[in-house]
Amino acid sequence: MNADVVIVGAGPAGLFAARELVVHGFSGSILIIDEGPDVEERKCPERFTKICARCKPCLMVSGVGGAGIFSSGLLNLHPQIGGDLGEWLDPEQQWRIVEYVDSAFVEFGAPTRLYVPDPIKSAELSRKAAAVGMRFIPIKQRHIGTENSIRVIANFRDFLKNRGVHFLLKTRVESFNKGFVVLKDGKRIECRYVILAPGRSGADWLARECKRLGIQTRFEPIDVGVRVEVPSVILDPVVEVSVDPKFHIYTKTYRDFVRTFCVNHRGFVVREVYNNYVGVNGHTFESVKSENSNFAFLVRVALTEPVENTLAYGDAIAKQAATIGGGKPILQTLGDLRRGRRSTWGRIRMGLVRPTLTDVTPGDIGMALPHRIVIDIIEGLESLDNVIPGVASDSTLLYAPEIKFSALRVEVDKYMEPSIENIFVAGDGAGLSRGIVVAAATGVLAARGILRKEGLIN
Ligand SMILES: Cc1cc2nc3c(=O)[nH]c(=O)nc-3n(C[C@H](O)[C@H](O)[C@H](O)COP(=O)(O)OP(=O)(O)OC[C@H]3O[C@@H](n4cnc5c(N)ncnc54)[C@H](O)[C@@H]3O)c2cc1C
Repeated sequence: MNADVVIVGAGPAGLFAARELVVHGFSGSILIIDEGPDVEERKCPERFTKICARCKPCLMVSGVGGAGIFSSGLLNLHPQIGGDLGEWLDPEQQWRIVEYVDSAFVEFGAPTRLYVPDPIKSAELSRKAAAVGMRFIPIKQRHIGTENSIRVIANFRDFLKNRGVHFLLKTRVESFNKGFVVLKDGKRIECRYVILAPGRSGADWLARECKRLGIQTRFEPIDVGVRVEVPSVILDPVVEVSVDPKFHIYTKTYRDFVRTFCVNHRGFVVREVYNNYVGVNGHTFESVKSENSNFAFLVRVALTEPVENTLAYGDAIAKQAATIGGGKPILQTLGDLRRGRRSTWGRIRMGLVRPTLTDVTPGDIGMALPHRIVIDIIEGLESLDNVIPGVASDSTLLYAPEIKFSALRVEVDKYMEPSIENIFVAGDGAGLSRGIVVAAATGVLAARGILRKEGLIN
């Protein structure tokens, strides 16, 4: 089977690239290849609560719909959340493409309810944050939700199929070059254009292929920190303003960038396994609520010449934390971290917060994470306490490590085309995004690159 356009990856980037081609009258054949199964077959044994390495490929992140849509499916409707569309588009174009992606999800059945920060309360929060040198970023969000995601993605797939797009699933692409891709069984598919959108799960593969072909890549910053857990009443006032409040802070001592991320109000902390090391994440469920709220508190780590390998650094931190935690995440109260002593179950029980994750080792995060990151976390939480009183109390729980690795970034032009003509990249796998909306937008831009070459748009 040959095709005019081969798209590798059926996540948001790949699906939106295909959609953009068909809605602009591209008349050639389009083939989407994904190593995962179709959307209805994605039955994750962990019910999309953690990456557990039981299925290969992992059903949480692989298959039609890609990663993320099934576990939380929160659309962050902002061009600078989950990537930075400002790298390729002017401000008006950035907002237009975000709305474009959002309206397509709604067209395919995403709930029409939009979470919009209350303007008066949000201005008040921004003022409070600014007074202590922090930024509050009010954003609109749409929650697709696990219960709707299969229907939305199935509608998306049917829309594409009805317009002649072919899907080749449970099929891994092993290599590519200008004009063809090669499947795992050695079969070669000829094409005029390739769009590579393999997501985080395919990032290492894409980086290896880029290296082989001489396509330029660079290391991106990673985010290293902790999952913070507090009684839910502490977050009530800010969650009222925004369901996933985002604060950006520059710390006092090092002027490092620290941010809140992935707030789970009345949710649970969960384990997450990265490259053989264990870390943490957070989730909320519709049916079960906890008395706590949790959020990631992450320090941005960038390395500059001559040592730029943030992935190796992140791996080393994860490994050290795994050693100190005896293979489990480390739990410590903020009070103990401040006083430079390890936590014990006895001291944790004396505190106000009951941990929602107990398969952990009470210990000393100060011995697991680099000193600079520990200082950033303490100072950052103390700044945040001015806006969310109680968040930096002694009994606040910290779980470590939480690490957000970023893929090697492929160097592209504004149409997502790297140095080899007619090969395009999009989404998280190419280091261009870190969230559903920006991933989808880069898929749209890659498709527009093809449409331009075909003379279908200017
Ligand atoms: C647990 C979890 C929760 C998340 N929650 C959210 C959220 O609420 N909101 C948000 O904005 N973002 C969230 N994200 C991030 C979001 O899922 C990603 O940013 C987004 O899915 C990236 O889209 P993508 O198309 O680039 O890649 P993906 O969605 O990862 O899709 C890539 C696809 O390519 C396929 N593939 C990879 N390599 C190959 C190959 N060699 N051959 C064939 N197929 C291949 C994979 O099987 C996969 O289906 C979450 C991520 C995770 C893991």
